[in-house]
Amino acid sequence: MRRTKPTWQKELASERVKRLFELAEESHLEKTGMADRYVQLARELAMHYKIGIPRQLRSRFCRECGSYLSPGSTSTVRTRKSIKAVVITCKKCGNITRFPYGRRKQPV
Ligand SMILES: [Zn+2]
Repeated sequence: MRRTKPTWQKELASERVKRLFELAEESHLEKTGMADRYVQLARELAMHYKIGIPRQLRSRFCRECGSYLSPGSTSTVRTRKSIKAVVITCKKCGNITRFPYGRRKQPV
């Protein structure tokens, strides 16, 4: 049950996660709802292989409702200098995520 996947499989999976986000970016413009589906697939894949979603991609989907976040379209991105964080708001459900910058975050 708790067998870990071989490294090559994880690498392949993380490549597919990246590719799914690329597809989400492309299909998001067509407004077919496929972008959210790609995000869902990418998250399921990452969970299945116990690989994290790369930091640069973590701001591209809503953890709350799972929709693909495209800055200026389905999300708003604001920089808060006072708290040194990028604040991303999901336009679909209003969920707010903060991404601190300029300091080292302790690994979770
Ligand atoms: Zn949301």
